[in-house]
Amino acid sequence: MLELVDTHCHIHFPEYQGKVEDYVKVAISAGVAKMVTVGTNAKDSQKASDVAQEYPNVWFSAGLHPHDAKKLLADKADLLSLIGIPKLVAIGECGLDYYYLHSSKEEQVLALRWQIEVALEHKLPVIFHVRDAFKEFWPIFDSYQGITGVFHCFTGSVSDVEEILARGLYIGVNGIATFTKKSEQLQAYKIIPLNKLMLETDAPFLTPAPLRGTINESKNIALIAEFLGELRGEKLSDLASVTTSNIRGLFNI
Ligand SMILES: [Zn+2]
Ligand SMILES: [Zn+2]
Repeated sequence: MLELVDTHCHIHFPEYQGKVEDYVKVAISAGVAKMVTVGTNAKDSQKASDVAQEYPNVWFSAGLHPHDAKKLLADKADLLSLIGIPKLVAIGECGLDYYYLHSSKEEQVLALRWQIEVALEHKLPVIFHVRDAFKEFWPIFDSYQGITGVFHCFTGSVSDVEEILARGLYIGVNGIATFTKKSEQLQAYKIIPLNKLMLETDAPFLTPAPLRGTINESKNIALIAEFLGELRGEKLSDLASVTTSNIRGLFNI
């Protein structure tokens, strides 16, 4: 059977309350051997850790989503206390989201900088979430050296791919690929080198076609892999084995 990985999901979210055991079981039987459940603030990252401690196939990250950036002062200490807990693989998701602006731009920049500095200090990779803010993001990123990580939920253009690759980051692609109508986006998905590609569901969000309208789960990674295999002209077995070794390279799992 194919061995797939879900590098970005939120198994600890309320959508799955009381159903986590089934979620993980179904994912494993769909070939998804490793899942990273991603924290979005201190309390949420603690929940992510709880799930990771309970299930051998689940790892977690701790971070402050740009939507929650306004919680930085309140959450700092609790986020730091998660570093050193077994199965923490990354800091994030963090970044800039100027589409929704649930936190102000200033708050988002402060939270992003703080998390990059924590990651560098503890030699951890970073999970980046950037929406409608590429131009503002790169100068911040480039003011540091030695950042490793993944640019999650990628929906940009060919030139955005080039910007990301120039910084040595991995690129996370999710179910959006299966239903986007934008040819520029599809073109960008085609040129991502396989050794820089990460598969993710971002569950419970962004359910891939043809399951639109249902709550997303890690088991659906297979649908994204099949779609990308066809789009990129790659064998599913190659896509599975290289993306699985990519996660080993970045998250050390
Ligand atoms: Zn995100
Ligand atoms: Zn997410």
